[in-house]
Amino acid sequence: MGPFQLTPTPLKECVLNNVLVMKFGGTSMGSADRMRVAATIISDQRKQHALVVVVSAMSKVTDLLLDTLRHAELGDRAAVDANLRTLLDRHLTAGEDLLAQATAAKFREAALENVHALVSELHRIANGILMLGERPPRSVDEALAIGERLSSTLLAHYLEASGINATAVNGSDVVITDAVFGNASPQMNLTEERCQQRLLPLIQRGTIPVVTGFNGATTDGRPTTLGRGGSDFSASILAAALNAQELWIWTDVDGIMTADPRLVSGVAVLDEVTYAEAAELAYNGAKILHPRTLAPLVEKGIPVWSKNSFAPEKPGTKIVSRFDEPKGVRAVTSMSNVALISMEPANAVLSGTRLMARALDALALGNVEILVFSSSSYRQSFCFLIRKHDVIAALEALEANLSIELAHGYLKPIEVDENVGLLAVVGEGMRGTPGLAGRVFTAISREEINIIAIAQGSSELTIGIVVRLDGLERAVHAVHDECQLGQVAGSSR
Ligand code: ASP
Ligand code: MG
Repeated sequence: MGPFQLTPTPLKECVLNNVLVMKFGGTSMGSADRMRVAATIISDQRKQHALVVVVSAMSKVTDLLLDTLRHAELGDRAAVDANLRTLLDRHLTAGEDLLAQATAAKFREAALENVHALVSELHRIANGILMLGERPPRSVDEALAIGERLSSTLLAHYLEASGINATAVNGSDVVITDAVFGNASPQMNLTEERCQQRLLPLIQRGTIPVVTGFNGATTDGRPTTLGRGGSDFSASILAAALNAQELWIWTDVDGIMTADPRLVSGVAVLDEVTYAEAAELAYNGAKILHPRTLAPLVEKGIPVWSKNSFAPEKPGTKIVSRFDEPKGVRAVTSMSNVALISMEPANAVLSGTRLMARALDALALGNVEILVFSSSSYRQSFCFLIRKHDVIAALEALEANLSIELAHGYLKPIEVDENVGLLAVVGEGMRGTPGLAGRVFTAISREEINIIAIAQGSSELTIGIVVRLDGLERAVHAVHDECQLGQVAGSSR
């Protein structure tokens, strides 16, 4: 072999080096017009990348599906039928609009036929639930995935009709998960294998897979979902499994912001945040990403962009492994649908540490996530913040695990305070910056807002502050101003 002959890179590697996964959220898929915009974005990007597209259901469709299942459980057939009608009409209307041209007739026919078949599938599941009078978790997951299957079939047919090779792929064929219905976790090795088998041949052929977000299946094929908002997570699972170059998440806002723009005026879009910061922001209530999205990407360092499909020319926010220079406080988030649970031993008989261990164990078993945990020393009392919708499950788990202690009065009655809100200040640059926490607390106190509980881990990435609910919004304002978040991030644009 002469010195000028290069060994050709095998096709598989070549394709794999350049995969871009793009995810379109519910509003970005919300109507025929929005799907046209998505298709334009896809058409632009396919010139530079091998694409994999992941889609959410059209906006509000998952809520409609859940509502349908609830009515079915309650035996309300009329409500079920009305919802099925709404679902069918919404997708038929979008399909007819998207594929109205005479040249698209063949695709229109196929797409609308699929829509009818998918709605019939839901009808079948709803009938089963009507008869049973209950909603088995796997049937719920099977039904919920229909929203994404409907949107993916519409977009794939529209792309095809526009001369772009594409095919709808059911996420349950490529994302393999455990059997935690409603909140499943991926099994990455198996998922990688499936992606190689199912997606790679399509990509190599130049066909864009339009994969349903949100759903997966167990190894033995039982349908699962990844939790509400889980399409982001699907996209990151696929990006990791395919070793993608980047993941772009298309939403309806300009990127990750310094605060919720509905609460604070003058917020800035952050040009860059780290995985750790983005994950903290998501966990603490910023509605930017499904909180589990970043985990699969961290190890491989796959960058994520959060972009606005309503303003695709804007750069958006890039989520990266690390910054070269520290960037201080990045953002302040808030959450109002939370409750503070307080526990305290009645006397010294019960060790506080043991009580905490038992409480945490009970909460883990009850699948309750703790947002903030705080304890004070001498009286061994402690409190933790959870989501409001977890309160019943939390109390049941705690009372079952500590029934004897409660009955014998070793433990004071468990207190629940729902009149609270969480504010979180996030930024890698807070580490080792003295005086920052002081400034944040002072800003809140200046507004005469009482701080109820505080938590800061030793990573110094987030300070969680629990305040009275009626002071939450003012507290967010005060901290955003104090840390000059709008200005600092804004000036870098
Ligand atoms: N459609 C699902 C939901 O609404 C998943 C998603 O949109 O990310 O929760
Ligand atoms: Mg979403």
